[in-house]
Amino acid sequence: MPRTVEKPEALALLAENRRLLLDGGDGCIMCALVRRAPEAAERLAENVHGVALLDRFGSRPGHAIVIAKPHIEETTALGWPMYAELQRLAYEASAAIERVLAPARTFVAVLGASEQLPMSFPHFHIHVLPVFERDERARPAHVFSWSSGVLVYEDDEARALAARLRAAWPEP
Ligand SMILES: [Zn+2]
Repeated sequence: MPRTVEKPEALALLAENRRLLLDGGDGCIMCALVRRAPEAAERLAENVHGVALLDRFGSRPGHAIVIAKPHIEETTALGWPMYAELQRLAYEASAAIERVLAPARTFVAVLGASEQLPMSFPHFHIHVLPVFERDERARPAHVFSWSSGVLVYEDDEARALAARLRAAWPEP
């Protein structure tokens, strides 16, 4: 099982992950994730406009992100055709997650921060986040924060869960 780490350790791991992904450079981490998606342990699916990956710093097991392939920050700058294709991947991820993990419900969210934060990225992405609790812990404000810790996968764990989700992926 992936382990849960507290926010300070998660931020340190995220900084290390960023250094590795960007090779010490200063680029966009989401662009780097798109570039390495084909061989990534967390790869779920892709279409012409986006990739779907397990979030390696997720809030719940199966928490996935759909990332636009080009570096576009604003939702409306995507244009409807690209936005629709990205939401299609989010829909497919929801279906696979429901089949494999049977969550109480699945949140689909486009978030975004009003300023640069270490765990938030301006490059357009959609969270697909299964929630297993049915109590206060399932509230969006709680789920979409790192206050209760972050799930960190080893490569083998990510690869195994991603394979299960890919096997349950609906036909486009
Ligand atoms: Zn980017």
